[in-house]
Amino acid sequence: MIKIELSVALAIYLLSGMVFIFSFWYFSEVRKRAKDLRKEEGFLWECPTCTHIYVDSKAEEISRCPLCKSLIKKVK
Ligand SMILES: [Zn+2]
Repeated sequence: MIKIELSVALAIYLLSGMVFIFSFWYFSEVRKRAKDLRKEEGFLWECPTCTHIYVDSKAEEISRCPLCKSLIKKVK
């Protein structure tokens, strides 16, 4: 059997708790960032006429292509 001191056992216990909390915080942050990226993708528009890809965060249903000025309807 391995003999360890109480202080060492306590230190390991506290450290493992901290690692658990840190990893939980890290993964929740990563998930939040992925969600934000997906939200930003909703602003991406691809023009079917000139295949130009641009960002239009104001338009919700219909957007105007900045290159060929054609109107694009959202597919979703
Ligand atoms: Zn276009």
